[in-house]
Amino acid sequence: MRLKKGKPVLNQSLKVLFLITFFFISLSVSAEAEFKFKRTTPLELDNQFLAAIDEEVKFIIQRINQILLIPENVVFLFGAEDGPLYDPLLKQIWMPDDFTYEVIERFEQANYVENEQELFDVTVDVIEHTLYHELGHALIDILQIPITGREEDAVDNLATILVIMTNEEGGEVALSAADLFDLEGDDRQEFTDEDYWGEHSLDYQRFYNAICYIYGSKPDQYQYLIEELAITEDRAELCIEDFLRIRTS
Ligand SMILES: [Zn+2]
Repeated sequence: MRLKKGKPVLNQSLKVLFLITFFFISLSVSAEAEFKFKRTTPLELDNQFLAAIDEEVKFIIQRINQILLIPENVVFLFGAEDGPLYDPLLKQIWMPDDFTYEVIERFEQANYVENEQELFDVTVDVIEHTLYHELGHALIDILQIPITGREEDAVDNLATILVIMTNEEGGEVALSAADLFDLEGDDRQEFTDEDYWGEHSLDYQRFYNAICYIYGSKPDQYQYLIEELAITEDRAELCIEDFLRIRTS
C-alpha cells in the first residue's frame, strides 16, 4: 500500500525528547568537530544515480552540522561493506551502497513510483531517515546519553521527528520511510524468533510509530492516514499530544 500522496508510538516520547534536546542545544565543545561525508572508493563515472544521491547526502550533513555541535568527528562512510550501522569504536556511520540498491528495488517492485525522478526522491527520503537513525546511535554514544528501554525505538522515533522538523515538507519525507517499513512488512509474512527478539521493532510497528508522528505534526493534512489505517480517535489524539510535547520542549 502506498500512503504517500503525490505533491501536496508512543511512550517513547521521553527518550526522544531527551535526544531532541541534545540535538538542538549547542554544547560547549570544540567548534572543529563535525559530521563528515566520506566515500570509501570513488564511484564509477557512469553511476550518476549514486553520485546524485551523494550530493543530496552532503546537503543533509551540512544541515545537520548547522544545528548540532558534537565533541568529536563522526564520519558518514558511504560505500561501506556493511550496515547501515554505527561503529562506536571508529566513530563511523557505515552506509553500504547495497542498502541504497535494496531500497530502490523495493520501491520499484511495489510500483511505488511513476518515474525516475520520483524514485530518486523517495530513495533520498529513506536514506535521510536512515542517516538520522544512525546519528541517534552516535549521539547516544558520544554524548553518553542514558537510555532506558529500547535504543532502537528511541532512535527510530528521533529520526522520524528530525526528518519532519528539518524539512519544509518533512511529513512527506517521513512518509516515504514509513511506506518502506510497510513494504518490508509485506515481504515477511512469516515471522521468525529473530523478528520478535531482534533489535528492531517489527516493520509494521515501525510503520505505525512513524505514521503517528507524521499525523501528529499536521493533523489536517494527514487526517486521511488515520482514516485509511482505521486508527482510533483516542490513539490519534495521543499522536497529536505526543508530537506537540516534543516540538515545544
Ligand atoms: Zn539502529
